[in-house]
Amino acid sequence: MSLKSKVTGLILAGGRGTRMGRVDKGLQPFQGATLVAHVLRRLAPQTATIVINANRNLPQYQALAGVAAVAPDAMGGYEGPLAGLQTGLQHCATELLLTAPCDSPFLPADLAERLYAAMQAEGADLAVAVTMERDEQDPAAAPYRQPHPVFSLIKAGVLPQLDAYLATGARRMEGFHKTLKMAEVLFDDADAFRNINTLEELQRHERERAPAAATPGFGGDPDALHVAEAQRLIRERVTPIDATERLPLRAALDRVLAEDIISPINVPAYDNSAMDGYALRGADLPAEGAAPAVFKNIGIAYAGRPFTQAPSAGECIRIMTGAAIPPGCDSVIPQELAAAIDGDNVTIAHGAIRNGANLRRAGEDLKAGGIAIAKGKIIRPADLGLVASLGIANIAVTRKLRVAFFSTGDELRSLGECLDEGCVYDSNRYTLFGMLARLGCEVIDMGIVRDDPIALETALREACKNADAIITSGGVSEGAADYTRDIMAVLGEVDFWKLAMRPGRPLAFGKVQADDDSAWLFGLPGNPVAVMVSFYMFARPALLRMMGATAMQPAVKARAAEAIRKRPGRTEYQRGIVSTGADGEAQVRLTGAQGSGILSSMTEANCIVVLHHEQANVAAGQMVDVLLFDGLV
Ligand code: AMP
Ligand code: MG
Repeated sequence: MSLKSKVTGLILAGGRGTRMGRVDKGLQPFQGATLVAHVLRRLAPQTATIVINANRNLPQYQALAGVAAVAPDAMGGYEGPLAGLQTGLQHCATELLLTAPCDSPFLPADLAERLYAAMQAEGADLAVAVTMERDEQDPAAAPYRQPHPVFSLIKAGVLPQLDAYLATGARRMEGFHKTLKMAEVLFDDADAFRNINTLEELQRHERERAPAAATPGFGGDPDALHVAEAQRLIRERVTPIDATERLPLRAALDRVLAEDIISPINVPAYDNSAMDGYALRGADLPAEGAAPAVFKNIGIAYAGRPFTQAPSAGECIRIMTGAAIPPGCDSVIPQELAAAIDGDNVTIAHGAIRNGANLRRAGEDLKAGGIAIAKGKIIRPADLGLVASLGIANIAVTRKLRVAFFSTGDELRSLGECLDEGCVYDSNRYTLFGMLARLGCEVIDMGIVRDDPIALETALREACKNADAIITSGGVSEGAADYTRDIMAVLGEVDFWKLAMRPGRPLAFGKVQADDDSAWLFGLPGNPVAVMVSFYMFARPALLRMMGATAMQPAVKARAAEAIRKRPGRTEYQRGIVSTGADGEAQVRLTGAQGSGILSSMTEANCIVVLHHEQANVAAGQMVDVLLFDGLV
């Protein structure tokens, strides 16, 4: 099931608008629409349905396109956002509720996705957005963490806990959140969470910022594009391919599932024993205070060879793990919990097991007709096993993505060639091959293309004909890109970005066309580390999206074993080694020199340390986000 289908959006518009001269904030005009309409537009792609909590002007809210329901506070009396949350949870039709205030027209396009990833990773009931903020009065001071409790993803099942919390008279959102298991997600773009509190602010924003505008980073190059914004622009443009193929189960390993796997049967198909022991009728177990009961063993149930006779009162059946539970039985006592076993007499004391113990119920793993695995999942070993357990031998997967790649540069030499003065061996084609092969793409290696407009145009035209996507390295930095830009302008629509990131500042992204064929182009920088980092951060998520995969790679936290220098205003990806510290927790240190050409920093590393846009120097002992290279599967 897609994330979107699990999420109901809740727009909190129930305030009195005291700071806005008691106007209804959500209905204030802003850039050609109302504030709430902007919020709706941002939430719609992330949610299955949207509910608005409002206490006034209900018809105006109801009239907005795409609103499923408008609900006033169930408790009445303008009790604040927590009352709105209660109302939202009461109207939540899905398992998750995504909340946002009505005056946040810039909220992130990946809010639900990122909050959900953290919730899953941390087993939390709730995930809340956090940004790094600066003190406007004291811009030199270190940034601080600012949680945004009204931008949250919360399990619908917490409603009874909220009811109980409100019944105590408490009204603070943060207070309620503290009663739950909460995950926090650091977002780079603090401006995305700005809400508009006064009419004056509204007018200022109206002048200053368009809702989808890129946010330049402070402290860095004001023209540089924010990493998150570039990722968003890419994600919004590429779409999944629709070609699928049906494969025998084993051949589907690591491929993307193209349709939901619906379970044709209950798994397990019948009630069976979780233990080697004796099956019996729970009602025959001795009551508290009663003497131990002696059961008479009347037969044996094996896995695959059921015992079909129902026991009478005081009888039991010897049973093996996985064997069907004999008729009339509802409990199994493991043999080691019997007080005594003497031939066919099994003595059981009160309290040895509870009634109903040690049974695996029919359908407890999967129910017939239910979704066993949702479309979009990358098939891992456990999925192969699960599909096999349903008796399904062939499954539909997205066809392999065809990705063409080449390196550009007159200085590049291929393996086997002589390394002339001033030349380097082409390593990018090898790292790209490895990364693409790992993603399960069909790779088309087009070799080295000279720094020559005609050679480049010819290569791109050919790549268009054969591939869904093209990855190039080199030739996109400002000086080098001039003729590349001219060719791209002829062949398609490609943007050349200067990103607020390190390594990997330049990036070209767009679509190139040759006759009737087109392909997405990712023009990565030439430096070997920059190629890998840009591939992981921009090309990989886009390729996964094209494959129809829903996979996300959640960052995990590790303690910085030493201080890390970091300039606010750009995202940095440093190479690190995660290990287990003396306290048993994950710690990370950097792999020495971090230059963008130093590939050994990458081979020594087992993770990338993500230092977010607004983040400043990290002190030893602080927690940082890391992306691990390897996983168990
Ligand atoms: P460019 O982006 O083309 O200016 O290249 C930046 C740097 O990366 C230069 O030092 C290039 O020599 C180096 N470089 C470019 N492509 C490759 C490659 N395929 N393999 C190794 N180094 C490369
Ligand atoms: Mg070059």
